[in-house]
Amino acid sequence: MRRVLTAAIAALTVTTAGALVAGSPGQAADRPGRSRQIPVAASTPGSPGLGDGYFPTYGNGGYDVDHYDVRLRYDPATDRLTGTTTILARATQDLSRFNLDFLLDVEAVRVNGWTARFTRDGSHELVVTAPRGITRGQALTIVVTYSGVPSETLLDGYTGWTRTADGALAVNEPESAWWWFPANDHPLDKATFDISVSVPSGVEVVSNGVQPRPALAEPGNRVRWSWRTTTPTATYLAFLAIGQYDLVADTAPNGQPVVNAYSTTLGELAPAARASIERTAEIVDWAGGVFGPYPFEAQGGVAGPVDGIGFALETQTRPVYGPGFWRRGSNPYVVVHEQAHQWFGNSVSVAQWRDIWLNEGLATYAEWLWSEAQGEGTAQEVFDFTYAAYPEDSAFWQVLPGDPGAGRIFHDAVYDRGAMAVHQLRLAVGDEAFFALLPAWTAAHRHGNATIAQFQALAERISGLDLDDVFTTWLFTAGRPALPTAARAALAPQQPKSWTKIREAHQARRH
Ligand SMILES: [Zn+2]
Repeated sequence: MRRVLTAAIAALTVTTAGALVAGSPGQAADRPGRSRQIPVAASTPGSPGLGDGYFPTYGNGGYDVDHYDVRLRYDPATDRLTGTTTILARATQDLSRFNLDFLLDVEAVRVNGWTARFTRDGSHELVVTAPRGITRGQALTIVVTYSGVPSETLLDGYTGWTRTADGALAVNEPESAWWWFPANDHPLDKATFDISVSVPSGVEVVSNGVQPRPALAEPGNRVRWSWRTTTPTATYLAFLAIGQYDLVADTAPNGQPVVNAYSTTLGELAPAARASIERTAEIVDWAGGVFGPYPFEAQGGVAGPVDGIGFALETQTRPVYGPGFWRRGSNPYVVVHEQAHQWFGNSVSVAQWRDIWLNEGLATYAEWLWSEAQGEGTAQEVFDFTYAAYPEDSAFWQVLPGDPGAGRIFHDAVYDRGAMAVHQLRLAVGDEAFFALLPAWTAAHRHGNATIAQFQALAERISGLDLDDVFTTWLFTAGRPALPTAARAALAPQQPKSWTKIREAHQARRH
């Protein structure tokens, strides 16, 4: 959802078309019966990717999505998903055809009411050719009807859809949409969402944002759940949790609705899950004081089932947590991490996946700030202990947080060395500039995309310092950076009180 100057583009199209009609009769004459489809000659295919250096085929060029209306029917007993997704988009070029990213079986595609041809290309590309030319600036309503068994729809032996005993989880990064809705699947194209799912009565469905209407009974002993998010959302941050859940609704200190959900399969893990996730509104309140205003319209968290995902993900407005976080009691640190992503990653999203440090370095550092705020160890103490935890000859130090490689975007170095880099930046600029930088960053790129270079530039502008050394040393240079002599005295540091919980959150794979 890049806000384009629609009126200007429409005017340009009219002018171009007018010029062609008025000034190129020969060209029009070459196309008998097609004289009203002037721009076709200049139309080109939309690119099959958005130019991501790590994932070149993620997302697609030539159009920009404003809204996804994802309307599904799901049966836990068979894992069968049928659906219709209506995509409201706008062409950003004259298009002869365009791609969507999707894996399930497609029955039909319509573009502005007209039946479109479609084919498959590559691993996840759905190539759509509309019967009429598409001109730059034109509004597109793309309707895709489809079905499939997502848990059995494998790509290189893998599915991003997790089937459970009582339902399913569509929760994954960097790709999740392929298994449940056709999309322009890259964070560069955010959109709003209406997500509704019909399931057998007695099954719950949880997703992003708010419920615009209560779950409604449908014929055949079914119920339809509806969720809506009105703030721009990257496709990988839309989610589904389907199964047996207890929903807990409340109001946050800032007046926003809070909906938390707890799988009924958690058993003796449930109290620890509740003691963590029920602190969401408190943690959001604290984070708002450090990072700037909370960027979304609702809050919450989902404690997934015991046979679900083995990680946590910062799905927008409502992170989903695997059961591993609660095995050793409550853990607010994972909630802090996933909530910090609402600012770092969700509102301010990566421009390219190689910028993943902007998400993980800052969200991990948020844990250190929470430790400091709770009196459980200063960020300096957590830094010292983390630095000492990785010996100089560890392979850990060979991965660059600022450019880890496509296969290592979730490597420990992106998180731990990433947070160490944030701490070194804080030391370099001082607390006043550092705590001005964080809200300035989230304000400057709210609901947008950004790069590490832009973060460095803002930090330099606010601090008045050249920070090239800090960024190059901590993000872009292999090997363990040396510390100043004074800091080396702390090389056998005391274990901070927060360390156990931070390690547990790490080992249970918080994303
Ligand atoms: Zn994370």
